[in-house]
Amino acid sequence: MNLTVNEIFYSLQGEGGRTGQASIFIRLAKCNLACSYCDTDFERGVKMTLEDIHDEIEEYGCRWIIWTGGEPTLQLTDAVVSFFREKGYLQAIETNGTRSVPAGIDYITCSPKQHFEKVRELIPEVDELRFPIQKGDPLPDISILPKTERYLLSPIFDDSTIIQENVDYCISLIKKNPLWALSLQTHKLIGIR
Ligand code: SF4
Repeated sequence: MNLTVNEIFYSLQGEGGRTGQASIFIRLAKCNLACSYCDTDFERGVKMTLEDIHDEIEEYGCRWIIWTGGEPTLQLTDAVVSFFREKGYLQAIETNGTRSVPAGIDYITCSPKQHFEKVRELIPEVDELRFPIQKGDPLPDISILPKTERYLLSPIFDDSTIIQENVDYCISLIKKNPLWALSLQTHKLIGIR
């Protein structure tokens, strides 16, 4: 079994409910959307077997994998998740919510960008909903989104530079709608990946 992998790196999760936790990021190539603010290079990739990937990540001694992209569900299957589960890994995924998530994932972050009305049908429940927000964007309608206990607004950055007006806008939205909380891309603020 092969996956087309854009990059593998070891760092701390910088945003959302698992912020600060050591994690092995496996960025899979390809995405099915083309968001204007996308800050990720996900086109290139090399084919790797699951054994190759395991050999590469084993040296980190960390039990958490984060499947990211691109859109990782374009390649990730139940069998892939099962392979790494059997090796003892916990697995998180960061998905745009346009496709269902394989069985066996331990932590689902859903960041819908388009087709909001289909997300709940595809993924009924998630660990966190995380929305990139820029000044003027409306608050998402949670009645059509997956159920969760963690609703997060993530102010859009300019590459690695914080955009204060987006942060201020998110803060004012959250004060009016306290179900939501702020999620900053702290990895960019502290200069890690
Ligand atoms: S869904 Fe994510 S990875 Fe894909 S284009 Fe949008 S921001 Fe980039």
